[in-house]
Amino acid sequence: MIERPASVLKELIENSLDAGCTQIDVDLLDGGFKLIRVRDNGWGMSEADLLMAVERHATSKIRSASDLWHIQTFGFRGEALPSIAAVSRLEIVSRENDSPSATRLSQEASQPLRIEPAGAPAGTTVTVRDIFYNTPARRKFQKSPAAENTAAVDLVTRLALANPQVAFRLRLGDRLALQTSGNNSLIEVIAGVYGADTARQMLPVGGDGVTGYISPPGLTRNNRQRQTFIVNRRYIHSRLLGFAVDDAYRGRVPGHRFPMVVLHLEIDPALLDVNVHPSKLEVRFREEAETRSLVQRALSRTLGVQRGISSLTPQRWTVWPSMEDLKGSIPDSEAGAAAPKAARPEGGEAIAFKWPDRVFEKTPAYPEAEPEEVALPAPAEDSLPSVPAEEAKVSVSSFHDLVLLGQLDNTYLVAEGGGDLYLIDQHAAHERILFEQIMDSLQDHPNWSQPLLFPEVVELSPDEKESLVQSILVFRELGFIVEDFGSGSLLLRSVPSIIGSDARETFLDLIGILGKTAPNARDGQLLERLAMKLSCRQAIKAGQKLERGEMEALLVSLEKARQPMSCPHGRPSAILFKKSDIYRRFFR
Ligand code: ADP
Ligand code: MG
Repeated sequence: MIERPASVLKELIENSLDAGCTQIDVDLLDGGFKLIRVRDNGWGMSEADLLMAVERHATSKIRSASDLWHIQTFGFRGEALPSIAAVSRLEIVSRENDSPSATRLSQEASQPLRIEPAGAPAGTTVTVRDIFYNTPARRKFQKSPAAENTAAVDLVTRLALANPQVAFRLRLGDRLALQTSGNNSLIEVIAGVYGADTARQMLPVGGDGVTGYISPPGLTRNNRQRQTFIVNRRYIHSRLLGFAVDDAYRGRVPGHRFPMVVLHLEIDPALLDVNVHPSKLEVRFREEAETRSLVQRALSRTLGVQRGISSLTPQRWTVWPSMEDLKGSIPDSEAGAAAPKAARPEGGEAIAFKWPDRVFEKTPAYPEAEPEEVALPAPAEDSLPSVPAEEAKVSVSSFHDLVLLGQLDNTYLVAEGGGDLYLIDQHAAHERILFEQIMDSLQDHPNWSQPLLFPEVVELSPDEKESLVQSILVFRELGFIVEDFGSGSLLLRSVPSIIGSDARETFLDLIGILGKTAPNARDGQLLERLAMKLSCRQAIKAGQKLERGEMEALLVSLEKARQPMSCPHGRPSAILFKKSDIYRRFFR
């Protein structure tokens, strides 16, 4: 059960919540490997309670067998503290409200337990030092302190969202990573963890046992990191509820974007199976279909009201065609592969559909499998479109002296080279060119990074900020210069010169990748992944009509590219029909 520092932290905080506290302070040193300290102002423990607490199966939380079915508290196995004590140096100082003094208990695996009086305020402080010090093999297989910091920020963020009545504070070393007020206002917690800017835009959901806040369709992320579901005050993972959110936003956001949601559900415990997962993060709903539709309806009501507004302010809200509508027209490939043929008529009237300045990526498989998550360097063989072997095998040297013939379906350039016929995917080709430019510029271009005329303020959640802090050198190398602007905000001062007007959006998209990259990925790998995302964002989209001059410029650049035949993700950027094949097919 004690897999890593973050799992210890979870058990300790849940114990504090069970003890009815209103304040929880968390300190981590070295990602928790050196020290994890959780202090609460809950009802505390007597000396006898303390001795009990560190004995196996000594939970105070089950009084009868039927309690198991109506359990409202977090712990009910009475195993956390003894398991923690077995792999660390544990110290608990606790004082009951009405007791004049506190008691300190210290336990180390090989030594006799010590218990002594101490001075302390009411409540409990649990300190876990040197976790895994006595199990070096396990210590060796642990993630980095940075990864534990990230996990801790995520955990405390979710628990704070689940418990607005509790004031949380998380410090990583001497840095304050997160703080909430505990005044029982969910929107204030959201402001505390995701920033005031986000909180201002969130829309309230209310009624039928579903309450919380959701983002308008125009405010989405490229992963589900900011979807938090809380059932009976317990933060859980739920694919089902994720699908319910998708149901409500279908047709309002594109397939690869995810709204932010913080939803509290009140559900009769008799209709839940908790503990299907050892960490108790998952629950099974007895009435799955009803639950899904309940949540979907609650969200749709909020969004329905929103839609009335959207027609008044068309510049802020974009009507997106649903993935369902587009499926037929989008080949199964990554970004920008095709434009939709038609928009879904919304509200009866035919609306001229403007293709948004954004590209569709492959519909991600739940939970967060976006293209950039595919293991580097190239996607699996079978995800490549099937190209006859001979067409795919183009030697790089053959790629020159192309003469443009035209554009096909506003998506492919058609060109001739030495009698051979080339079809060039304009998005993939441009992506390849930009990618190589970025990678080259990193090495030898002093003017690569351009100061913004008006530096932009960007609000980041503590977890995003944490990831950024860890990757700040990589971002700097890429050409982003940021400054701390206080309490979760950053000032974006300079960006890579290939970025156009959407510096802030691009920056946020890149931050989104950090959450999905293995924390121990090497900097070089991360840099490459960010460069791919950047080139994908900035590249010409499929479905865009190009002028002859633009197409010719593209061909010239492509001829100079080192790997002109594939985009950075490994998809082909061009396919070749050999002259000899063409002749043969016409039986010449
Ligand atoms: P469980 O939470 O499953 O009961 P634990 O090993 O986590 O088991 O804790 C054992 C017992 O110690 C709890 O049942 C509770 O009575 C007591 N305890 C642990 N932490 C605290 C705390 N922060 N405040 C008050 N009591 C606590
Ligand atoms: Mg517990």
